[in-house]
Amino acid sequence: ASGTPLLAVAGLQAWYGESHILHGVDLEIRPGQLVTILGRNGAGKTTTLRSLMGMVPRRQGSVRFEGQETIRLASHRIARLGMALCPEERGIFASLDVEENLLLPPKVREGGLSLDTILELFPNLRERLHSPGTKLSGGEQQMLAIGRILRTGARLLLLDEPTEGLAPVIVQQIGATIRRLKQEGFTILLVEQNLRFAGSIADHHYVMEHGRIIDRIPNAELESSMGKLKSYLGV
Ligand code: ATP
Repeated sequence: ASGTPLLAVAGLQAWYGESHILHGVDLEIRPGQLVTILGRNGAGKTTTLRSLMGMVPRRQGSVRFEGQETIRLASHRIARLGMALCPEERGIFASLDVEENLLLPPKVREGGLSLDTILELFPNLRERLHSPGTKLSGGEQQMLAIGRILRTGARLLLLDEPTEGLAPVIVQQIGATIRRLKQEGFTILLVEQNLRFAGSIADHHYVMEHGRIIDRIPNAELESSMGKLKSYLGV
């Protein structure tokens, strides 16, 4: 791993109203890496992703994307630099079909994938192209939510718990898709609760507790770190 990080976060703090949620998050991702954030419920994982995108009411610290400071930019400007968030709740429009959902986000920069390319990556979606959002399984909705952000031209994908609530066989499919995206050159920051899943795809893992990163574990050391990880995560 050489060169400048694609994303360098230092001392990131965030607030919702009076609630101080992030107390100084530090992390780094190099181009092409797949990195997870692990942590208990309420640790601040989702808030971290939202803060990177400029989607919290108040934040402070440093978030450099390709060396450019983004802490004072509005989220639409951050999106234009090449960052996109796939939220935990997926945000699929029930009244629109798969194709309409896919075409919804605007291309905000060069390099966004075409509808055809997205459907090559997600063959299940091609079969469901004219099904309404409501008729999709949880796994299909997740594929759609990820596929949709690829149109924007983002190179850094922030994925919030893509495996949540999905059956093991579907989790495997999502894993294969995320691996494929990595092969295609996307850089990925993944919030996960599923340790086995995280271990099957990531280069390294950050552990978050009470709004701070408290550990960084290379994937090769995940097995030998299981004891301490389980105590961090309370599992
Ligand atoms: P989970 O896995 O449960 O989503 P998380 O690690 O992603 O956990 P966050 O969702 O970032 O945690 O929440 C961190 C803290 O921020 C929690 O105490 C939560 O109650 C609080 N919080 C989250 N969103 C808001 C909001 N919109 N307004 C006020 N407080 C919030």
